Amino acid sequence: MAQILAPSTQWQMRMTKNPANASPFTTKMWGSLFLKQKTKGTAKFSTKFRVCASKSESSTVNRLDDLLNMDIRPYTDKIIAEYVWIGGTGIDLRSKSRTISKPVEHPSELPKWNYDGSSTGQAPGEDSEVILYPQAIFKDPFRGGNNILVICDSYTPAGEPIPTNKRHRAAEIFGNKKVIDEVPWFGIEQEYTLLQPNVKWPLGWPVGAYPGPQGPYYCAAGADKSFGRDISDAHYKACLYAGINISGTNGEVMPGQWEYQVGPSVGIEAGDHIWCSRYILERITEQAGVVLTLDPKPIEGDWNGAGCHTNYSTKSMREDGGYELIKKAILNLSLRHKEHISAYGEGNERRLTGKHETANINTFSWGVANRGCSVRVGRDTEKQGKGYLEDRRPASNMDPYIVTSLLAETTILWEPTLEAEALAAQKLALRV
Ligand code: ADP
Ligand code: MN
Ligand code: MN
Ligand code: MN
Repeated sequence: MAQILAPSTQWQMRMTKNPANASPFTTKMWGSLFLKQKTKGTAKFSTKFRVCASKSESSTVNRLDDLLNMDIRPYTDKIIAEYVWIGGTGIDLRSKSRTISKPVEHPSELPKWNYDGSSTGQAPGEDSEVILYPQAIFKDPFRGGNNILVICDSYTPAGEPIPTNKRHRAAEIFGNKKVIDEVPWFGIEQEYTLLQPNVKWPLGWPVGAYPGPQGPYYCAAGADKSFGRDISDAHYKACLYAGINISGTNGEVMPGQWEYQVGPSVGIEAGDHIWCSRYILERITEQAGVVLTLDPKPIEGDWNGAGCHTNYSTKSMREDGGYELIKKAILNLSLRHKEHISAYGEGNERRLTGKHETANINTFSWGVANRGCSVRVGRDTEKQGKGYLEDRRPASNMDPYIVTSLLAETTILWEPTLEAEALAAQKLALRV
């Protein structure tokens, strides 16, 4: 592979030359993700020059690049819609694409579609048709132009949600008048781990061995501390382009592990945005040749697990006097601890050990500014007497439709008996 080296100013000029609405991602840029490793032998360029493009020796690949990046809008009104849905494990993402006759702005303008449920573990072979209902659309950062990603949920031909369709029930809860009036906000911290493709060992770790102990890696910079930043950054921009409400990102305590935050988003939107952000992350890691895992405890031992802390507030919690409602919500959550834990992700028992900034899975606890609790309340919230709570229990592989709707159900719709409430208040030292 021959590489083209250019000063970094030229790199910026190339960026601004892109047509305003074209995809900001070119395969050349994807190529640059990995050039750091490939440029080992070019030390004399490394400080002043930045590698900005790679050309394949085969001109066929260059022509493919041109086609992949081609803006088709001057030639046709047609667009490509990538229909995305959740597969049979409840965590795998599947997608397929189809042509739509003109650009659309709302999922209701899109046709329903179908797929072979027997190939995703979602239907028997003899009656395998599953119907996709378009529910949310995002701009497609990979194809650019007017092309879109479509988040769908799945139904039987008779119109019944199939068992793995968790969005349907969540949409019912978020459609409840009491819940709508409380305008529930969710800020989700999605953690994930990057693995080397063949050995399935974290990115940046020596194969068959361990890096130095945790401590220097969280939010760190440096080739010996930060592994996979290009993926995190490419994903950040792709999400902004797509219209996902991504609010930040950071390197994690375990090397090779990252986090991004989505939100605050209202109601069902939180789930749609997290699922779309996960799909984009799968696609980016696919292009990068790195494996994504959402396993809650990818490496046993003294290594942090991966969670999906869910920050939550209602309108009443955000208004003056809201702290009282936050405490009442915590009380309700304590009484339904088991239900929540069983819905917070597979394998979470390997993560919620009471170590590594987690609370033990078997006991509910809460505290102000305490990261060893099930639920944390921030100092600011306590000081201002209003704000939000952080549910630290959900695992990185949780289903955001389930977690967000269960939080709303437990804190807005569900009521404990007075007796249970009094007992729990005493136990948690909570006066409400
Ligand atoms: P942490 O300190 O736990 O690492 P982060 O900064 O990673 O927290 O994430 C906090 C999340 O909480 C962000 O996604 C943010 O948008 C969200 N958030 C902020 N205010 C609220 C609120 N009132 N209700 C719900 N979520 C909120
Ligand atoms: Mn965070
Ligand atoms: Mn984190
Ligand atoms: Mn957190």
